[in-house]
This record gives sequence, C-alpha cells and structure tokens, in this order.
Amino acid sequence: MSDLDSLIHLLAKLPGLGPRSARRAALHLIKRREALMQPLAEAMLAAAERVRVCSTCGNLDTEDPCALCRDPRRDPKLLCVVEDVADLWAIERTAAFRGRYHVLGGTLSALDGIGPDDLRIDQLIARTRGGEVKELILALNATVEGQTTAHYITDRLADTGVAVSRLAHGVPVGGELDYLDEGTLSAALAQRRPL
Ligand SMILES: [Zn+2]
Repeated sequence: MSDLDSLIHLLAKLPGLGPRSARRAALHLIKRREALMQPLAEAMLAAAERVRVCSTCGNLDTEDPCALCRDPRRDPKLLCVVEDVADLWAIERTAAFRGRYHVLGGTLSALDGIGPDDLRIDQLIARTRGGEVKELILALNATVEGQTTAHYITDRLADTGVAVSRLAHGVPVGGELDYLDEGTLSAALAQRRPL
C-alpha cells in the first residue's frame, strides 16, 4: 500500500468519514501540507503521547487529576454522571453546570455484554459514598440502556441519602409540538410543570 493509500485507509476509519470523504480529506491535507498537515500530525503525536484518562472522573486531560477535578471553584457536592467524554463536553459548552463530573465509559447493555464491571460504576459508588457528594445528576441518554444504567446506579446508592436526579425529558427549546415523536411528547406531558 502506498503512503497515500494508507493515509486514506486510516482516515476512513474515523467516525463520520467513509472512503470518499477520506480521499477528499487526504487531498485537502496534501494541498495544505505546511499550513495543516504538518501541524495536525504534530498535534496528533502530542495528544497520543500526553492525553490521559483522569483517574478521578474519567475525563481526558494531559494531567491527572484533570483540570475540572482540580478547579476549586467547582462545587464538589454536585456530581454529574455522563456516559462519555463527548457528553461532558456537551454539558460544559452550556456553561450551566458548575459541579464535577463522572464519566462511566458507556452504559449497561445485556445485548452487548456490557456489565457494571466494564464501566466506571464502582468508582462512582465509592466517590459518592465518600461523603462529599450531596447530589448526583444522572445525565444519561434517554435510551433503554441509559435508563437501565440510571436505575442500577440509583439502586446501588439507595441507602446513602444522596439525592439522585436526572435530566428532564421534554420539548426541546425552539421545538414545535407537531414535529415531536410520541415518546418525547408524552414524557413532556407527564412531566409538566406549574407556570
Ligand atoms: Zn477529572
């Protein structure tokens, strides 16, 4: 395989890139060898060498504990549980949460053979039982697996007195009722709030 073929072959393994977009990306990179390709290669090498999983929360950073875990302005009483680092980033982009995080690394799934030992659930239970955490916010996906995982965690913490909440389900901001699926609309109706 030529260098170019192997570049395309590797690019095609990225999420969202098929063979066609991988070829376009490869051409784009080669045309911008100095402005883009070299800096990208250096950034990838640096990230591959230096980025670590935070041993406290499961976030990615060059230091362990990560910047979020080290930040003294963040409220350690609030712990937000997410499936994946991408979900943590999504919540951080809102700037609406000032607590700390715990990344599970997936959700329970009998179908895929993913059990509690495959996720960072024991670490979460230990962290929550440590005494500092007062509220656990389960920001898990509104899927069967996400909800199964939420129930499992809630059960394991039932005797701790820690308040457990989850994200609201309902009408998205800017959403039109006519376009919502029945599941979303019925959840929104069931969880209506007084004005
Ligand atoms: Zn961390």
